[in-house]
Amino acid sequence: MAIANPDRIFAATGTVDTKQIELYEKRSLIRLLVFEDPISKKRYSCFMVMVAGESHNLQQSPLNDLHYKAYKEFTGVVDFYSMDGELVNGWSMEKGKVVGSRKPGVSRTSSPIRNQKLMNVLPPENCNTREDPRWRTLCNTVYPIEGMTGEPVTTCRQELYYVTVVISCPDEDGDGGYVPPHGGTDPNDPEPPQQDSLQAIAKDTCLNATQMQTLRNTFNSYLNGEGDLSWACLHKAIYGRVLTSGKKIGFCINTINGSGTYNALTSTITYGDELGLTRFLTLRHEFFHVYQDTYYTGGTSQYNSGTRTGYPNLEFEQALFNDILDGSDNASAMGSTASNSDLVEYRNWVKSITNNNTSYPTQFSDFGGQYYYFLNKFYAIANHYSGIGIVKSDLPPNALLNIFNTTNCKLNY
Ligand SMILES: [Zn+2]
Repeated sequence: MAIANPDRIFAATGTVDTKQIELYEKRSLIRLLVFEDPISKKRYSCFMVMVAGESHNLQQSPLNDLHYKAYKEFTGVVDFYSMDGELVNGWSMEKGKVVGSRKPGVSRTSSPIRNQKLMNVLPPENCNTREDPRWRTLCNTVYPIEGMTGEPVTTCRQELYYVTVVISCPDEDGDGGYVPPHGGTDPNDPEPPQQDSLQAIAKDTCLNATQMQTLRNTFNSYLNGEGDLSWACLHKAIYGRVLTSGKKIGFCINTINGSGTYNALTSTITYGDELGLTRFLTLRHEFFHVYQDTYYTGGTSQYNSGTRTGYPNLEFEQALFNDILDGSDNASAMGSTASNSDLVEYRNWVKSITNNNTSYPTQFSDFGGQYYYFLNKFYAIANHYSGIGIVKSDLPPNALLNIFNTTNCKLNY
């Protein structure tokens, strides 16, 4: 479907020099996204507005080549607007990585700026409030009077017609995606999360009611895939496995090495601090370990005792699952200290086993004979994991393959 932009609307961050309108038009891109919930089949949509930052090289990486969550080397901001023009959420990005989150600074209607009173809102700590302008080009054509010679003359001017107040905050845990507004009143909204999903798999826990509510919010956003429907589909499937296994999980906060850990002997996820309860990525990581524990016959504590033979397998399987979901450009299992050549080699492999991020591997043969090669590399170089335990040479990632080949979760937006 082609969408016309007759008013030549473009977006910018900060003050716009009207002499350079063409440049600003090139540096921004507006896309319409339509999502379908694979389970409820409900559809909803939003506008994705990308504004390239000054350091973004448009020649090397044209905005038209970028897609939802396939941000490559993008530097700038990505904002998501509802169909009636409300900013829903957004992200500041540097070289394709989220470095900040953006939220609406004030609730407003899509009335023109001249009718609008902008409120001052106090941003949270470490955050700041800014105003992002929207511009459009208005043209007027004057036709020659009948009987006279001459061509019609068109004159155009640029008009600032709207300002979005944005609170931007540092945030490195974001995924760059659209987070649909909830509330359940809008028939186009995806189904609101089940409030008691966490309770259904939890046993007596060390958390107080407030901490439990914090975790419940993170858990619901895990089940919703933070707005990414492929993730939501997979996370719900994983949750379903844990639920039907009957295993009950404890949740605690304690002094540990790292931000979270899952103990298969006690079926408990332990967080290093209270802030950990809010972290989507920590929950996604540890809950995959819970799923592994329910999937492998005899549980996974057998791989975590004595010589810990099989421990690297469990961690690499988790890391690979995470990387397949995040896409090859963000694949990070080789660790933050990996050499560039190791990183590129691994990312190329993730790209190949997902057919360029369009499908999920479902059979061991889909790994192109290189699964153990990269597992051994992970064991050799991935910081936090290298040298711990022993690689088990006959433990393929069947939990990962099983979740992909029993679901049909890859959705292309
Ligand atoms: Zn782990």
